[in-house]
Amino acid sequence: MKLLVIGGGGREHALAWRLAQSPRVQTVYVAPGNGGTAGTDLLRNLPITDLDELVEFARTQGIAYTVVGPEAPLASGIVDKFRAAGLKIFGPTRAAAQLESSKDFAKAFMTRHGIPTAAYQTFTDPEQAKAYIHKLGAPIVIKADGLAAGKGVVVAETLEQALEAVDHMLGDGSLGEAGARVVIEEFLQGEEASFIIMCDGQNVLALATSQDHKRLNDGDQGPNTGGMGAYSPAPIITPELHNRIMREVIYPTVQGMAADGIPFTGFLYAGLMIGDGPDATRALKVLEFNCRLGDPETQPIMMRIKNDLTEVFAKAIAGKLDEAAIEWDRRTALGVVVSAANYPQAPRTGDVIASLPKDTDECRVFHAGTKLEDGVLKTAGGRVLCVTVLADSVRRAQANAYAALREVQFDGQHYRRDIGWRALPDRPRNPS
Ligand code: AMP
Repeated sequence: MKLLVIGGGGREHALAWRLAQSPRVQTVYVAPGNGGTAGTDLLRNLPITDLDELVEFARTQGIAYTVVGPEAPLASGIVDKFRAAGLKIFGPTRAAAQLESSKDFAKAFMTRHGIPTAAYQTFTDPEQAKAYIHKLGAPIVIKADGLAAGKGVVVAETLEQALEAVDHMLGDGSLGEAGARVVIEEFLQGEEASFIIMCDGQNVLALATSQDHKRLNDGDQGPNTGGMGAYSPAPIITPELHNRIMREVIYPTVQGMAADGIPFTGFLYAGLMIGDGPDATRALKVLEFNCRLGDPETQPIMMRIKNDLTEVFAKAIAGKLDEAAIEWDRRTALGVVVSAANYPQAPRTGDVIASLPKDTDECRVFHAGTKLEDGVLKTAGGRVLCVTVLADSVRRAQANAYAALREVQFDGQHYRRDIGWRALPDRPRNPS
C-alpha cells in the first residue's frame, strides 16, 4: 500500500513514521517533507505543493489514501479536490475547515449550538471595535478572523495594547485579508489543554490527551511560538473532565456541523481553557478549534500508538470509525522542540546539524525545519526538530529527553528545560 501525507513539519514526520510501521505499507510519500522524511527506506519526499499536481500524483501512483497535516491546504480545499477526483483522503472539506480558518465562523457556530466559549463580538469598523473594548475593559483578547500563522491573537493586558492591536489589524491592514475582521472576546482564566478527536462525519474516536507549551522560554515566559514541547497523557484531563468535554464540546460540535449541512471529517482539535475548582463544576470553554492535529502534540501521541494506524484511517475514511480503536501505550511520551537562532522573530536557516541522538524504540527525533543538502543535514526553519521519548513517568521522560538532547548539536540551538512541568505530580506553582 502506498500512502501520501501532506505537510513538512514534525507532525507529518511523526504521522508518516507511525504509518510506515504497518506491515501493509510499501511507501509513505510526504509532500513536501523535510530532512527527516527524506532519508529512510519507507518514507519518500515529494517536492509538490500545488493541489492539482498532488491529485495527479495520487491518481497515477495508486495512492491508497492521503492524510493532510497542516491547515493551509485544508482551507484551500484539498479535500474537496481529492474527493471530486474520486480519491480517498482524511481531512475536513474547505467549508468544514472554516471552524479554524475563520474565528468569526467558529464563534457564531459555537453560539448557535450552545458550545461554551468566551463572550465576543466581531468588527470590521475600528471605532466600533474600540468602543466595545472600552465597554469590556482589560484584560481582553483581540483575534484576527483569518489564518495568520499564529500571529493573529493578541492577549492585551491593558486598554492601550488592545486599542493598538485594533489599529494594527483593522487600521493598517498589516495582516492582510486575515485581519480585515476582528473577533474581540472576554479574557478567560485557567489552564489550557488540547483535546483531539478523529471524526468521520458522525462517529468520534478520541485520541490520547496531550498538552503543549506555547511560550519560548522556561517558566512559560517569552513570546508565543508554534509550540516548544508537549506530552501525553495530560493529567489535567481526568476521566470526569474527559466525559464533560465529549458531552459539552465534542458531540455538540460534530452534531452541529452535520445539522448545518457541513459534516466534519478529519482531526478536530479543541483548544480549551479549564478553570479552577472540582472537575464536575470547573469552567470549560473552547478557545479555538483547529481542523488538524497539533504540532508538537502529534509527536508524543504517535509514540504512544501501539496498533496499526493505517487501519484506523481506512475505517475513518470509510465512515466506520465506530469499528476502529487505538491501543495506547500506558507510558508517558514527552517531546522537546529544538528551535533555530532568532526563532520566532526571524529564524536563521542553513546551520549544519552536526549531531543527533540515535533513534530507538523509546527515543525518536522527529524533524521539522531541516533539509538534506548534498547529504548534509541543515536547519531550514524555526522549529528544527522534536526529541520525543517514552518512559514510565513524567520525571523519567524528562530525564531521558534531556539526556538525549545533549546529543543535539547545531549553532544557535534553543530548547526549554522544563517541558512537562505541569504534569509533574508535585508541580511547582511557579515553574521558574
Ligand atoms: P487561539 O489561537 O484562539 O487559541 O489563541 C492563541 C492563544 O491565545 C491561546 O492558546 C491562549 O493562550 C490565548 N487566548 C486566546 N483566547 C483567549 C481568551 N479568551 N482568554 C485568555 N487567553 C486566550
